[in-house]
Amino acid sequence: MLEKLYADVSRGVAEILDRALEGRELGHDDGLRLLATEGPDFQAFLRAADVARSEDKGDDVSFVVCRNVNFTNVCYVGCSFCGFARHREEEDAYDRTIDQILEKCRDAVARGATEICMQGGIDPQKNFDDYRNLLLGIKAEFPNLHIHAYSPEEMDHAHAKSGMALDEMLRSFVEAGLGTMPGTAAEILDDEIRGILAPNKLMTARWREIISAAHEIGLRSTATIMYGHIEKPRHIVSHLELIREIQKETGGFTEFVPLGFIHEKNALGHVNIEGHGPSAADDLKLIALSRLMLRPHIQNIQMSWVKMGPKVAQLALQSGANDMGGTLMEESISRESGADHGENLPAEEMRRLIREMGRTPVERSTKYDILRRFEDPEKDPPSLEPDHDREMAGPRRFRNERGLARVQLHDLQH
Ligand code: SF4
Repeated sequence: MLEKLYADVSRGVAEILDRALEGRELGHDDGLRLLATEGPDFQAFLRAADVARSEDKGDDVSFVVCRNVNFTNVCYVGCSFCGFARHREEEDAYDRTIDQILEKCRDAVARGATEICMQGGIDPQKNFDDYRNLLLGIKAEFPNLHIHAYSPEEMDHAHAKSGMALDEMLRSFVEAGLGTMPGTAAEILDDEIRGILAPNKLMTARWREIISAAHEIGLRSTATIMYGHIEKPRHIVSHLELIREIQKETGGFTEFVPLGFIHEKNALGHVNIEGHGPSAADDLKLIALSRLMLRPHIQNIQMSWVKMGPKVAQLALQSGANDMGGTLMEESISRESGADHGENLPAEEMRRLIREMGRTPVERSTKYDILRRFEDPEKDPPSLEPDHDREMAGPRRFRNERGLARVQLHDLQH
């Protein structure tokens, strides 16, 4: 009977999936074929990626307790997909002081954070010293907090003003406390697409140069892709091939993170008539294809719960992903573009979402050292989240404690 489940899988797709599961490298046409799957082919594709994930990383699902800090939203690069940037004179432009940033770090550490993820807009008035002083300021008070900071775009900006060789500047940041780098600003690593999306941003060769230089000095980074806008399937597959090629050379990527385009509140979403952002099927295909094309070189495939929402994120755990990413605590880059899946997914919520999919949650460091494994829910640590007022609707008398007390819960009889 079970043969019926896969009887309709086309021979070409079955052969590609077989090769991927045998550990053989997939080529460009294989990637295109998998992105085009539907129905039984699509289901077999996700299942194969899930099997590969289990072989590569086992059944644990990791997450990191971290806080996002955006130190400024002042930026003049003008990327069409960005809802975060502001010009200096705008009323909601900000440039946070080191004291404001340290206050956020204190709150993060009190809530269990091991990492701070720090990125900002490209403010022409900021230079190499500003970036370095932020690192020094944070490390002076929090020597054990891992700083994950500065995209290749920010590195490019700092470098242009530093008068230093690129590797010298990167070393100087590491000496000041930089732990790892976000491999963001990648979007799609194809200059035809970049020229439309963000003509003022660094181009593919420069992104690669900065990432490779970082890896060369031992500064590891993530790798990302932003999909679901104007790109074609060939651009996605070529992007994955390029990331794989870099990883073969340097081994410096800690993980790969597909990021779905958020379209609601930015210029690209309004002028791109085809673009409503990726569907759930697109999200799962990107996760599955990343697993199958990048194995064995990149073993950590992370989904973005901010972009896809916690429920699709749960399905991504059955489609090749092994990592839930960060708790974030605050998030403005996706939110300002229209994402409405929240800014904070505390550790207890991470554990719940992971366990609901029959998997075991583990807390990791930024570089994927396992810090804690949560086998038994009874032994979970208490929440470190501050108490929030309960938000309720309905008749007023049900919204207070007396109203809640009237609701009697009984054990169901088995
Ligand atoms: S994506 Fe980054 S570089 Fe581009 S406009 Fe927004 S803040 Fe500036």
